[in-house]
Amino acid sequence: MKELYDLTVKDASKMLTAGEITARELVDACLDRISEMEPAINAFITICAKQAREHAIQVDQRRAQGKTLHPLAGIPYSLKDVYVTEGIQTTAGSKILEGYVPPYDATVFKRLKDADCILIGKTNCDPYGFGSSTEHSAFGVTKNPVDTSRVPGGSSGGSGAAVQYGGGLFSIGEDTGGSIRCPASFCGVVGLKPTYGRVSRYGSIAYASSYDSVGPITKTVEDAALVMSVIAGTDPNDATTPDQPVPNYQKTISDPINGRTVGIPKEYFGEGVSKDVLDVLESAKERLQKLGCTLKEMSLPYTEYAIATYYIIGLSEASSNLARYDGVRFGLESDPAPWKEYYTKVRGEGFSDEEKRRIMIGTFTLSSGYQDQYYKRAQEVRQLLRQDFERAFREVDVIITPTMPMTAFKIGDKTDDPLQMWLADAFTVSINPVGIPALSVPAGNTPEGLPVGMQIIAPHFKEELLFNFGHQFQTA
Ligand code: GLN
Repeated sequence: MKELYDLTVKDASKMLTAGEITARELVDACLDRISEMEPAINAFITICAKQAREHAIQVDQRRAQGKTLHPLAGIPYSLKDVYVTEGIQTTAGSKILEGYVPPYDATVFKRLKDADCILIGKTNCDPYGFGSSTEHSAFGVTKNPVDTSRVPGGSSGGSGAAVQYGGGLFSIGEDTGGSIRCPASFCGVVGLKPTYGRVSRYGSIAYASSYDSVGPITKTVEDAALVMSVIAGTDPNDATTPDQPVPNYQKTISDPINGRTVGIPKEYFGEGVSKDVLDVLESAKERLQKLGCTLKEMSLPYTEYAIATYYIIGLSEASSNLARYDGVRFGLESDPAPWKEYYTKVRGEGFSDEEKRRIMIGTFTLSSGYQDQYYKRAQEVRQLLRQDFERAFREVDVIITPTMPMTAFKIGDKTDDPLQMWLADAFTVSINPVGIPALSVPAGNTPEGLPVGMQIIAPHFKEELLFNFGHQFQTA
């Protein structure tokens, strides 16, 4: 029999409903697993053992009283530490927010709470999502449970690692340019970046407000669909969530995919992709053909501009978003001093090199004289990237690419060269400026045993297509 922490959300939900296990047993199994694994992995910044146990006892009591519960009631999960949680420390992985206890709940947390999912802890991440390895966190590096000499990916590395080892049955990550998909790929789990606006960003500590997307990291595609059914939908507190109904994802997830057309963009299968990754993707393509899909070679010609476009707009937004951490509104408090000195001290001591680097670049690309040259041009190229995908989706149902051009790299390998770290995101950052959804699903392992993720991309608000393709692929 499987350990309880190894269960999928779907199976655990069935067992809870049937009374075969209790929420308390499930929570305890995950907390014990966390105690066992954390010394080696460091996936969590905060563990909410006491609250989790209390919540589990309540859920079990209500179930025993015959009350109708949400199908996911009693499922333990974790939240990336960028989501505000009333009464529970929220740091965004940054030293400047250490000890910050928010006065309200993020919508995603509130929805999960209303469904009686049980928060087990807040996961480690690169500060504000700045990174692809979780090595920039002020709370230590997270290690990849598949191979602890390697990074778990980032910036939601704690979430990827926790789901991989069973520290909760799912996690909520945040994806601005790959931060859900990259750790999913490196840890061998599933990660969904939903359409921009599909899940409310209310209470999500902002990196780049026009990119940020809230989504699940799970073991299976089915589980991602189950979690999305809870968290997706319009929210009066986030004006970018349209009033578009959330489809019943379960209804179409098992539909056959034969006769469908899958786009293979040549820009994502060429130079710069490691051979191991390409080999796994080759076998993935064969699997899709066996499922009856037609593969279609195609081109997304503006891909080469994606990284520059992404970083110019993203860091411009980040530099404005991070202005609020000044020791007055938010952030470390320091001894009273003249305003300028105070501000410099708080920000100088509270931000790491990576945070400062990004604030400085974003300030530069927005400053007078450079704004037209960088920010404005990047917004124009963003439009071209969008057209690339619109054209493509007239001919294909979904597009597949490797999620990352490489497998999990060794801890320390890229920390000395920030540009190398940024280039690792080549295949994920093209998605967020366009706003479409993309799913990373495990496609196989390299001969060394390292997981490789396949990214499936669909048009706006077509998450159900991603679940359908991803589920058929994963179960084939
Ligand atoms: N690695 C990318 C970056 O550093 C993406 C981060 C994210 O999605 N939050 O910007």
